[in-house]
Amino acid sequence: MSKSRRVNFLKSTRKILAGNAGHMCSFYDCGKPTIGPEIKGDGSVGVKGIAVAAHIYAASPGGPRPPVGLTDKEIRAESNGIWLCPDDALKVDTFQFDYPPELLLEMKQVRVFAQSLALQNPTVSFMAHSIGMKRLDRIVRKHLPDLDKEKIIDAVKAAYIRTEIAHSTVEIPFPTASFALASAQTLSRVIREVMVCANRRLQIEDQVWRDVIAEWSVHFGKFLRPPHKRGSISGRGFAKISARNPQTGEILKGGVKAGAFVMLYYGDDLANPMSKQIMLQHTFKPFSPLEWKLNVKPTFGTFEVESVLTFYKDVSPRYGVLNNERKSFESYAAVLEKLTQGWEPIGYVGLSLGEGNEGHDYHPTPVSIVCEIEPEEFESRTRRCERVKLGYEIADEFGATMNFTSASLTSPSLTRRYQRQLQIF
Ligand SMILES: [Zn+2]
Repeated sequence: MSKSRRVNFLKSTRKILAGNAGHMCSFYDCGKPTIGPEIKGDGSVGVKGIAVAAHIYAASPGGPRPPVGLTDKEIRAESNGIWLCPDDALKVDTFQFDYPPELLLEMKQVRVFAQSLALQNPTVSFMAHSIGMKRLDRIVRKHLPDLDKEKIIDAVKAAYIRTEIAHSTVEIPFPTASFALASAQTLSRVIREVMVCANRRLQIEDQVWRDVIAEWSVHFGKFLRPPHKRGSISGRGFAKISARNPQTGEILKGGVKAGAFVMLYYGDDLANPMSKQIMLQHTFKPFSPLEWKLNVKPTFGTFEVESVLTFYKDVSPRYGVLNNERKSFESYAAVLEKLTQGWEPIGYVGLSLGEGNEGHDYHPTPVSIVCEIEPEEFESRTRRCERVKLGYEIADEFGATMNFTSASLTSPSLTRRYQRQLQIF
């Protein structure tokens, strides 16, 4: 192999790499689509892609992850390629030491395995769209290195049920064990019933979106001067996150009150809610890592809603001196406990702009949130919560104020460290 020459993939190899990745970026948690229709200059329809068949071992000796000892044939082989979007292809080459060959091979293995499962297994094929391909990839990734198919399919079912429960207001009338494609009839009945629940919930929630849009329009309207052009306007708002028992409908009192970034995209007609789109996010804070992302888009006379709950950084109450911070932590701990027990997250949207202090207005109707937190994540967050609680208890015992440090939240010799870090006032 000459020093300057690049050994590129053949077109046929690129096609295999793209197809095996389902034309999606294989980079962890990216999953961007990389192909779609193209309208040509003469109005005819074509197809165009934007991704890159990236080399795991470089195409030339001087490239990232040099192909030491590989023949040209091995360098251009399918086994040396991974399908990535342009951003991630650049990333893995620029930071080559963060992305060694083993990691790229692992990402490829996960994407290809998930794609194959989604294509061939009827259960996964049916549920993948509902839970999302990114989440399917995450489930597969958690089952490395064995990639036990049965366990993965079980995890997909569990994720699907969690997603569907989050969209319904009543108990889903079937036990988990019966949820098998063996009985297609059972499945379609279940889906019908879930759909009925979901529709009822959607009608109620549509009214919430209309109210929120109307209220936000009033507050944002102060900053707008006619004639309005299409655009967006953003500000500080607030939200409350709580939990609901999916069986009884009981709602946890209190909940986490959080500030939020809110945004209103307005159409030509400010008075018409059906021309507006709203967004709410950044609800996490040092004392509660719950991140509620809400996107509401009017579509066909109803609203298309993306409402998901994830964790941001773990709770890090470094400055545990203020009483309201402790209160805020305790409300988070209460919500976390319920979610861990299988309650579904729900949210209340603030009706005005501002800091969301006591006495602010929330819409009284709770809206559904899809829980995108995996059970394992709950475990580690709960452990962290227990440490913070213990810290507060020790501080109470000593009549002191707790000064949390990152060590006090992670160290195994917990009590000793806590005692050293207690600051007596
Ligand atoms: Zn990507």
